[in-house]
Amino acid sequence: MNSPIDWRAEAARLDFRNQAFIDGRFTPAISGKTFDTISPIDGRVLAHVAACDAADIDRAVAAARAAFEKGSWSEVAPRQRKRTLIKLADLIAKHANELALLETLDMGKPVRDARGDVAAVAECVRWYGEAIDKLYDEIAPTPRDALALITREPVGIVAAVVPWNYPLLMAAWKFAPALATGNSVVLKPAEQSPLSILRVAELAIEAGIPAGVFNVVPGFGETAGQALGRHMDVDAIAFTGSTSVGKLFLRYAGESNMKSVSLECGGKSPNIVFADAPDLDAAAEVAADGIFGNSGQVCDAGSRLLVEEKIHDAFLAKVSELSRKYKPRDPLDPDTIMGSMVDRTQMDRVLGYIETGKSEGAALKVGGKQARIETGGFYIEPTIFAGVDNQMKIAREEIFGPVLATIPFSTADEAIRIANDSIYGLEANIWTNDLTKAHKTARALRAGVVTINTRDAGGIVVPFGGYKQSGFGRDKSLHALEKYTQLKATYIKLG
Ligand code: NAP
Ligand code: MG
Repeated sequence: MNSPIDWRAEAARLDFRNQAFIDGRFTPAISGKTFDTISPIDGRVLAHVAACDAADIDRAVAAARAAFEKGSWSEVAPRQRKRTLIKLADLIAKHANELALLETLDMGKPVRDARGDVAAVAECVRWYGEAIDKLYDEIAPTPRDALALITREPVGIVAAVVPWNYPLLMAAWKFAPALATGNSVVLKPAEQSPLSILRVAELAIEAGIPAGVFNVVPGFGETAGQALGRHMDVDAIAFTGSTSVGKLFLRYAGESNMKSVSLECGGKSPNIVFADAPDLDAAAEVAADGIFGNSGQVCDAGSRLLVEEKIHDAFLAKVSELSRKYKPRDPLDPDTIMGSMVDRTQMDRVLGYIETGKSEGAALKVGGKQARIETGGFYIEPTIFAGVDNQMKIAREEIFGPVLATIPFSTADEAIRIANDSIYGLEANIWTNDLTKAHKTARALRAGVVTINTRDAGGIVVPFGGYKQSGFGRDKSLHALEKYTQLKATYIKLG
C-alpha cells in the first residue's frame, strides 16, 4: 500500500517556474519586472513571477506565428498531433502530485480537489488528442459537374485568457482543443495562479510539441491581457472570466482586427428543489457542495437555492447541517474539503456581500465571518442566507464565494420566473421525480446547461457554456473545436 503523502514536506521541496515560457524556453519579462504570487493558505510570498506586458506579448505572438507558418505542428498529420497530445496527457498524469500542489499553494483549494482537477486536465488533453484523427470533412451536394469540399482549418493564433478558480482545467479546456486542431496558442494565466500552467508548458515541450506552438505569458489583465485582446496578429480569443472583462474583450476585438471572441463568463445559477425530489438527502448534499465546493469560487455554483415552500424549512435544515463539514481547514490536509479564498481582495469582496445581504434584510442562518485569521491566510465560513428576495443584490450579483441565497417558491411557474430573472444563464439544476415537470422546466430555463437530479455533470463529453451574459461559445466536447477552426469551401468545376 502507498504511504500517505506528506504534502507539507512535498511543498518544501517544490521548485517554482517563475518566468514566461516563450518559443520553447523560460525567459524573464523584457522590462525585467516581476510580481509576487502569494499563497492564500498563509499569506506568504511563493515566488516573484515575470510581469509581462505588451512587448512580451508581441514576442510570444511572433513566436506562435512563426511556428504556425513553419507547419511543424499546424500541418502535421492529425494522428501525429494525437500521439503528442496523448504523451502530454501522460506527462500531466505522471506529475499530478506536483501540479496539484502548485495549484493548492497558489490559490488555496484543498489538495484532494486539486488532484481531481489535474486528473480532469489529463483526461481533457487525452480526449482531444484521441478525437482529432477521427474527424472527417464534408463534400457538398452539388450538381455532378462540380465538387465542393468543405474543410475545417485552424484559425492560426489562439490567445487564451483564463481565471484562477481552476487554473489548469480552465486553461486545458482552451489549449487542448486549440492545439488538437493545429493552432498555436498564447495563454495568459490569472495573476493569482500562474505556477501550474508554467510547468505544463515545459511538459508540452517534453511531449514533443514544437517550440513556439504553446506559450504561457504571465502578467496583469490590464497590460498582458489587453495586449492580447488588441493584438493585430491574434486570430481568436478564448476567454474565461468575469462578465465585465468579457465585455472588454468584445471591445478590444472591435477596435483591432475583428478577431473572433468566445466568452465563458459569470453565473448566478438557480438550483430548484421541488418537494417531489427523488432523494432530498442527496439533493441537500449536492446543494451544499455546489456552493461550498472550491469555496464557492465556481462559475456554475448553485448560488441561488430555490426551494418549494412545503419542504423549505426541512431542506434548509439539512443543508445547514451539511455546511458544518465545509468549515475551512488547511488545504494541504488531504481530508480538507474547503480551503481558502484565492486572495485577500476576493475575501474582502465576499465579506462585503455578506454585509450587503444583512443590510438588505436577508436572514443570516449560518456562518458569515472570516475564519482561521491566525494563519495569515484568507478563509471564510460557509454562509447561508434564508428569506432572500430575488431582487436583492445577493440574489442578482455573482458573489463567487461560499454564500448561499435561499429563495422559497410555491409553483413551477414561479420557480421558472425567478430562475430566469437574471442577467446570467450558465447552469440550472432541477430536482423532481415528475418527468413531465422536469422536461417542461428544463425547456423553459434559459441556461446553457440544465441538470436534472444532479449538478455539474457529464465531464468532457458534454458542452459547457452560457446563455445571456454568461457568454457564448462552448468549452468541452467536439463543439469546442468550432471555436478554433474556420470553414473553407473549395468549389471545383468539373469540365
Ligand atoms: P477576471 O477578473 O475577469 O479575470 C479573468 C482573466 O482576465 C484573468 O487572466 C485576468 O487577468 C484577465 N483580465 C482582467 N482584467 C483584464 C483586462 N482589463 N483586459 C484583459 N484581461 C483582463 O475573472 P477572475 O476574477 O479571474 O475569475 C472569476 C470569474 O471567472 C467569475 O466571474 C467566474 O464566473 C468566471 N468563470 C467562468 C467560467 C465559465 O466557464 N463560464 C469558469 C470559471 C470562471 P488578471 O488576473 O491579471 O487580472
Ligand atoms: Mg483577477
